Amino acid sequence: MTGRPEALFPLFSALTALPGVGPRTAEHLGNLDVLRPRDLIFTLPVGITDRKLRPTVQGAPEGGVVTVEVTVGAHRPGRTKSAPYKVVVEDARTSFDLVFFRARADYLSNVLPTGARRVISGRLEYFDGIAQIAHPDYILPPEEAGTLPEIEPQYPLTAGVTQKQMFKATEGALALLPKVEEWIDPALLDREAWPHWAEAMVLAHRPAGPVSPDTPDRQRLAYDELFAHQLTLALARSASRKQPGRVTGGDGALQDKVMAALPFPLTGAQTRAIAEITEDMAAPERMNRLLQGDVGSGKTLVALMALLRAVEAGGQGAMMAPTEILAHQHLSAIRPLAEEAGVVTEILTGRDRGAERSAKLAALARGDIQILVGTHALFQKDVAFKDLRLAVVDEQHRFGVYQRLELGRKGTRADVLVMTATPIPRSLALVQYGDMDVSVLDEKPPGRKPVKTALMTMERLAEVAAHLRDAVAEGRQAYWVCPLVEESEAVDLTAAEDRFKYLRAGLGEGVVGLVHGQMPPAQKDAAMADFVAGHTKVLVATTVIEVGVNVPNATIMVIERAEHFGLSQLHQLRGRVGRGLGASTCLLLYKPPLTTGGEKRLSIMRETEDGFVIAETDLQIRGAGDLIGAAQSGLPRFRIADPERQAGLMATAQSDARLLIEKDPGLQSPRGQAVRLLLWLMEQDKAFGLISVG
Ligand code: ADP
Ligand code: MG
Repeated sequence: MTGRPEALFPLFSALTALPGVGPRTAEHLGNLDVLRPRDLIFTLPVGITDRKLRPTVQGAPEGGVVTVEVTVGAHRPGRTKSAPYKVVVEDARTSFDLVFFRARADYLSNVLPTGARRVISGRLEYFDGIAQIAHPDYILPPEEAGTLPEIEPQYPLTAGVTQKQMFKATEGALALLPKVEEWIDPALLDREAWPHWAEAMVLAHRPAGPVSPDTPDRQRLAYDELFAHQLTLALARSASRKQPGRVTGGDGALQDKVMAALPFPLTGAQTRAIAEITEDMAAPERMNRLLQGDVGSGKTLVALMALLRAVEAGGQGAMMAPTEILAHQHLSAIRPLAEEAGVVTEILTGRDRGAERSAKLAALARGDIQILVGTHALFQKDVAFKDLRLAVVDEQHRFGVYQRLELGRKGTRADVLVMTATPIPRSLALVQYGDMDVSVLDEKPPGRKPVKTALMTMERLAEVAAHLRDAVAEGRQAYWVCPLVEESEAVDLTAAEDRFKYLRAGLGEGVVGLVHGQMPPAQKDAAMADFVAGHTKVLVATTVIEVGVNVPNATIMVIERAEHFGLSQLHQLRGRVGRGLGASTCLLLYKPPLTTGGEKRLSIMRETEDGFVIAETDLQIRGAGDLIGAAQSGLPRFRIADPERQAGLMATAQSDARLLIEKDPGLQSPRGQAVRLLLWLMEQDKAFGLISVG
């Protein structure tokens, strides 16, 4: 299929083709992201107005919409220009006023002639104890009352667009619905008793009762959206698996050596993840797996085991971290263990230049370096492995799903393992990582002490500093994270430098270190190294320490102006402590008054250390798009579906999409053809590049 099917042309034509939509209205609708009739049909009513005819306004709730048949009585024009024009009317039981401001008398005597019968529909109010309807929505002769929708849908509006216009325009758009073949699995459709697509559209736009996301019509339409998205991901997954991968067997010899050297047993979750990865690597398809685990869940060890597998098979492994500090940290975690197994590790970052770099590259090309850790410098053109079999990418949650697909398509045949420490609620994991297979480390290594978390106002800063001095005297170490007040690095920097000076004055020369994002890498690493080695006891930092850093002796985390940080960031930061034998403390310093959101964030931090609970709460507070950053995450904007609340539907969509793509990778079957139309309808155009030709 080379382009959008003709059946869909009308839905993708100009809005102005719809009744009652001129260029101005079309422009206004743009503010609702409605650009074509297609967008309009995916913009469902948010509520209903009940306009069923009742005998009288008597007893009707104030503020509600009523529809009654009346006899028109006297007209009472306002005495002054600004006074309202009133028309007395009488229903079956009582009389009340219709009220018009800035009315045109001739118009009103035309539509409301005294003595005539009229059906009136509008919002009932009371003014000085007298019932009235100001500017009724409808004034109709009884013989036309049939045109009044008994249940009128309420659409989301924008300036310049009225409900009536929306109603009329959606009538027009619904008339354009093409006849389509069913793309949902018939068994599923049956089981859920969902209507077919066009029928569901009409039901959703013309509800017979209160709107709810749980009606079969809306469920079906939500499923369509989720299914289309999951189809794209499933196609991407199958395209990447189709790429010839490598069978990386390995005999477990190196892994065994490292295991023997470990002072602790693996957790059940680690063992499970390693088994899943091992199986993927041994399969001829290319691995595309996500390793998800909260801070401290032991991802690094899992990654090392996978890397060793690549080496056992006679190949090489690479591990990429987002920052130099983390790359060094990974190396220092991995190197001693790798050495136990006689495996050669090396690091490559942007700082490697000249002869040293050339030597590393040569060793890499010869295969003398077996595991290479580094930053994105690993991706540079002249970096050539002898036989790269596994690429581990750490903390890549900032990559969007479609960007990652791009990367995957460009990549080599190496297996890919992505690690993320950001606990993602299951519903979102399906949206963002639906193209990947997922291993979850949902179990922490035993013996981790809970971190005591306390909230304190900034006024107690001096007290905290004094306490820190005592703690340092006891040999403890601490992080001090500086406020993230402004977007600008420079302002954050000043804050960090000021705090550094303040603490240095109180704790003494040489005790306090400083690390921030604008330092030259060498200086940053030196400051980090001083802290890791215990030369400095307190490390003042901007959020560069956010991810991954591991200093077991550091047992105090102070976060200044904690109310400015996001929940997941706070969680990541707190994860830096509680890694050693000593009891740990996290102090969240804030400046009152807190916003509702700020208060919620800080109190959930005090209540739990469970990253998944925190992520779920974060999601509730902020909403899905915001959590991942919709634009950069490539998280699709669903118009009907709500992946947060419809995780079950999403899971069904994922398994159904994967099943279909496995059975019919080229989307050739009749259902495959129907699914193609769905993809066009849902503008998943990028899916078409991924459809298997074979
Ligand atoms: P993550 O990268 O998931 O945040 P790490 O891999 O840095 O976690 O592990 C955190 C700490 O836990 C490290 O010091 C590591 O040596 C230790 N660790 C890893 N696995 C286990 C285990 N099974 N039992 C005890 N400690 C472990
Ligand atoms: Mg780690």
